[in-house]
Amino acid sequence: MEKVIIIRYGEIFLKGKNRSYFESLLISNIKSALDDLLGGNYSFSRSQGRYAVSNFELKREDEVIATLRKVFGIHSVSSAFMVRTDFENDFENIRSALKVLAVKAEEDNLKKDARFRVTVKRADKRIPMPSYEIAAKLAGVILDNTSFKVDLTDFDFDFEVDIRENGVSYVYLGSFLGVGGLPVGCSSKGLLLLSGGIDSPVAAYMMAKRGMKLFAVHFASPPYTSERAKQKVIELRDILSPYTTKMRLFVVPFTEIQLEIHKHCPEEFMITIMRRFMMRIASRLAEKFDLKAIITGESLGQVASQTVESMTSTESCAKFPVFRPLIAFDKDETMDVAKRIGTYEKSIEPFEDCCTVFLPKNPVIHPRLEKVVELEKELDIDSLVERAIGGIEEY
Ligand code: ATP
Ligand code: MG
Repeated sequence: MEKVIIIRYGEIFLKGKNRSYFESLLISNIKSALDDLLGGNYSFSRSQGRYAVSNFELKREDEVIATLRKVFGIHSVSSAFMVRTDFENDFENIRSALKVLAVKAEEDNLKKDARFRVTVKRADKRIPMPSYEIAAKLAGVILDNTSFKVDLTDFDFDFEVDIRENGVSYVYLGSFLGVGGLPVGCSSKGLLLLSGGIDSPVAAYMMAKRGMKLFAVHFASPPYTSERAKQKVIELRDILSPYTTKMRLFVVPFTEIQLEIHKHCPEEFMITIMRRFMMRIASRLAEKFDLKAIITGESLGQVASQTVESMTSTESCAKFPVFRPLIAFDKDETMDVAKRIGTYEKSIEPFEDCCTVFLPKNPVIHPRLEKVVELEKELDIDSLVERAIGGIEEY
């Protein structure tokens, strides 16, 4: 009787001819997550649309499950006993596994007289008995060893027995939902504008969920923004890694650009013009690394720089489509996701962002593109961009 974690995949089930491509990406993401966690000390196998992880240190089971639940493409996981299907021996192995699970469930359960059912899936057609008959037969071991009662429709516990074609059966109780989505890497690569705020880490999560592999860029304005603020962004990247796979993070020195805008342009256009520089620099990075999109954490109407007009004037400096997965999210909704994925607590740590440096009292809310372009003529855009790019550091 061996402990294994069964992995079921989600949406890639629907992929026809390309399924093997999606599967191999998913498998490679699963393995690299487990390699990070267990340093290679586990086995991985696949058969008939299911994967199984085994041979790991049992006391790490919860960590293995938690790690897998963050890998996009996984629908759910179960902690199961894997046994040889011993039909000829009256399913003795399956019964033993059921007994262990049931006794444990009774110990852990607070409710008296819990109800259960046994669900059998029988892929192994060499066994002549129909599934429901096998289930009825197996229920006996639970009745004999616990105070549980059978109820096929209104049950507290559903003991599942999956009899596979290859002579192996999996016996388990319940499953944990994964994050769903598509395996990271199947939807091209993109560049995330990662601030230290609440929104952009959530935007990363959303894009990775649809399979996009991300690189990240952060604009820092030392000495107005501190080393600790940069550290916070690195830590956010690390918190996101189980979901996004590790993002390469580029930090761009932005002080000179901000000082120049501050000096030569009207205060109320500070943010608009600054964001246009961000897009120019992001586009250059995207070109260099063959990234196909730029991603921000903007949400419609959240602040002055996130009106349709502001986004239009920012976007005209981008050479790639700009994706804004949070565009129609309320702040509450974004915060809920941030809490669930674990970035919220880090994001609310109080550190300055470059956007808060020289923050205008009354930023333009509906900037006209022609006007912005006119104002920018005061700046030597190309050489400012060039110097910023020259100062990029990778973390
Ligand atoms: P966030 O919580 O993600 O910081 P926000 O609501 O504070 O977003 P803004 O500060 O206006 O909004 O930023 C909008 C978007 O611009 C961010 O979601 C992020 O994608 C990008 N951005 C802002 N500041 C930076 C920065 N210093 N470096 C990289 N990207 C940034
Ligand atoms: Mg911000």
